[in-house]
Amino acid sequence: MTYNPKLLDKAKRHPEKQKNPDRPAGRKPDWIRVKAPQGKGYLETKEIVKKQKLTTVCEEAGCPNIGECWQQKHATFMIMGEVCTRACAFCNVATGKPDELDKLEPLRVAVAVRQMGLKHVVVTSVDRDDLSDGGADHFVKTIQAIRMKSPGTTVEILPGDFRGNMEDWDTVIDARPDVYNHNMETVPRLYPTIRPGARYFRSLSGLKRVKERDPMQFTKSGLMVGLGETTEEVGQVMDDMRAADIDFITIGQYLQPTPKHAPVDRWVTPEEFEKLTRMAKNKGFLMVSASPLTRSSHHAGDDFAKLKAARQEKLTKLAAE
Ligand code: SF4
Repeated sequence: MTYNPKLLDKAKRHPEKQKNPDRPAGRKPDWIRVKAPQGKGYLETKEIVKKQKLTTVCEEAGCPNIGECWQQKHATFMIMGEVCTRACAFCNVATGKPDELDKLEPLRVAVAVRQMGLKHVVVTSVDRDDLSDGGADHFVKTIQAIRMKSPGTTVEILPGDFRGNMEDWDTVIDARPDVYNHNMETVPRLYPTIRPGARYFRSLSGLKRVKERDPMQFTKSGLMVGLGETTEEVGQVMDDMRAADIDFITIGQYLQPTPKHAPVDRWVTPEEFEKLTRMAKNKGFLMVSASPLTRSSHHAGDDFAKLKAARQEKLTKLAAE
């Protein structure tokens, strides 16, 4: 597998991973190849992000879709800094002690959304376990600023688990984002090694809470595959997600950011992704996106329109019964 040189440079940002042996992933299969980022739209997006001094998960996570998304002026903003208080084994965001919150950041995100003319925006963040509210209030301010500057833009948020503090979940739910997205990331057996700072049922309870508090808010969650999970375990996670009334599941291939990160256990084939899509549809999700390059925020705007249409269709069918 060829690693992005920028990500390798940033390996020093993961002091906690330097003791890990190198476990390179081997050659990527043909179906994972993507084009190098280029084009007018890509450069304009890059310029707006730079000018507004914003951070994107597209760059920080080394997302393979950056060329395609930025060309269409779709970027996912990562708020509350570039440094995360957690050290997940799959993630390339730097671990350490974050800076103080930038109070003007919500406004700068809102200005960028307007300049980019986004109809739908995705906002994620680093985990801020150092803050008493985990950054819940900063999320609310960002949602409000976007709504003020671009009233027609729909807002999808992708926050962390707020250490399971339901008051913080409620604060964000009550700001009424259009989509509340929170990734389960992997199967419960792999949490201690892949997502050690998180708890499987804590994340699931938070997502369930969204629907209990605001049944019309769409909920979404994502999984990576190729980390060592079995298909049966993925099926169980789907069942748990449906029990929490999650509307939309995304599933994509795990890609190792540097050789110090968790190794790729296997490359899941496009045919297996089709099987996972059928499995998820049979379990009753309103929307399923499963492919090697699916990411939580990939095509989020188009998918939001489909999600709304799918709900409408379901409601119309129910009314006709
Ligand atoms: S898939 Fe999401 S994170 Fe990746 S480039 Fe597109 S918007 Fe950014």
